[in-house]
Amino acid sequence: MQEILELTAVDAGRRIADGEISGEECFAAWAAAAGGDELNAYLWRASAETDGRSSRLPPVAVKDIFCTEGVPTTAGSRILEGYLPPYTATAVRRLAGEGAHVLGKTNMDEFAMGSSNENSGYGPALNPWDRERVPGGSSGGSAAAVAGGLAPWAIGTDTGGSIRQPASLCGIVGMKPTYGAVSRYGMIAFASSLDQCGPLTRDVADAAMLLSIVQGRDPCDSTSVGVDGGVELPTREDLSGLRFAVPTGLDMDGVETGVRATLEATLSRIEELGGEVGETALPSAEHGISAYYVIAPAEASANLARYDGVRFGIRVDAPELDAMYEATRDAGFGPEVKRRVMLGTYALSSGYYEAYYGRAQRVRTRIAEDFRAAFEEFDFVVTPTSPSVAFGLGDKVDDPLSMYLNDYFTVPMPLAGIPAISIPAGLAEPDGGGPQLPVGFQIAGPAFSENAILDAAFALERAIGFDARPPSS
Ligand code: GLN
Repeated sequence: MQEILELTAVDAGRRIADGEISGEECFAAWAAAAGGDELNAYLWRASAETDGRSSRLPPVAVKDIFCTEGVPTTAGSRILEGYLPPYTATAVRRLAGEGAHVLGKTNMDEFAMGSSNENSGYGPALNPWDRERVPGGSSGGSAAAVAGGLAPWAIGTDTGGSIRQPASLCGIVGMKPTYGAVSRYGMIAFASSLDQCGPLTRDVADAAMLLSIVQGRDPCDSTSVGVDGGVELPTREDLSGLRFAVPTGLDMDGVETGVRATLEATLSRIEELGGEVGETALPSAEHGISAYYVIAPAEASANLARYDGVRFGIRVDAPELDAMYEATRDAGFGPEVKRRVMLGTYALSSGYYEAYYGRAQRVRTRIAEDFRAAFEEFDFVVTPTSPSVAFGLGDKVDDPLSMYLNDYFTVPMPLAGIPAISIPAGLAEPDGGGPQLPVGFQIAGPAFSENAILDAAFALERAIGFDARPPSS
């Protein structure tokens, strides 16, 4: 059984196909591992008896933002406590269709709003490298489960960084695909023009395999187009002929010393592998956070209007209808969700719409143009994924602005709609001292360049040879 848990998803799939292990055995091994969850990574777990039979691939941990028919789905919110969706999200359905069944539903920041998992209505997931620290967010449960040996692979969603940042803080691979590569059908909406589903995995090949399954056009989501020609398993061994750009428009002042050193070391590796490293401006990218924190709350304020005590989840009764709405939303939503709904409603209110929302949209267009210009000269734009290694539980909860700065390097890509991957690049101490913790390296490319990104990440991953494991697993 221990041996099954050591296999990557790609390898486990091959062994099942070759008849060396059975799908049932594989599911059972992972169900037992998930059963030992001490990280609060799961909000619900499948039982091996009911779900193991038709496995042709290892089971998958699914962020609790994906609707699963008859299985509790909360989006990390108390307002959806007890909600059993009547249908299953396309991404989850596609995985099951390939024999990768749901292992469990993972913890997350409420409605995917957060960078630490501390906004979950069900308590934070913990970082397996140090349980006093956050796993990142909002897909923190998925990242903690994969890094902590509680799941072979997982899916999450990324709106402003929620796959890449927790992958970085937990020392695993996470990828946000191009907007439209994966169907959003059945994914509970946060900010619909930004949300994308993607993989959180142990290595780049697993990410490619998972993405190859979930990507594709879906008649149920008119914004989905898939990746032309599909996604292939990566094979590249060097980076010759590829040009990587570090953006000068993004400020490195707030980046921890250890993270900066790891970035430098990774850039040298790229050159050793035959890649070229240069600089590009991306002059508008530094305004990404400001634009994102207008656009995402604006869309969220509209998307979250449906939680009113009438149709889904909990209801707090009151004599009048309006009072019932208010009491339900007051009891069901946490403080960050309330903050975003207020911000978004304000930004969209008449008289302020142009000043905030309209301007933010113009910044968004500029950022997309910046990337387009960069990709005329370079194949990829590279940055640290997160300015810091995993921080302590409680360190930033009372300071939303410093929490939002976690997304500094990850929000420009979803604003531009382009894909990006985070791979583990090494370990570093936090500023001020502490344990050695994972550092992520981000590679972004033009829209629908998933295969090129995965290929480059695959070559780089091999050269880096990151094989550290959390002390607790
Ligand atoms: N941390 C960002 C936020 O709080 C991004 C979240 C996400 O990508 N879902 O909005």
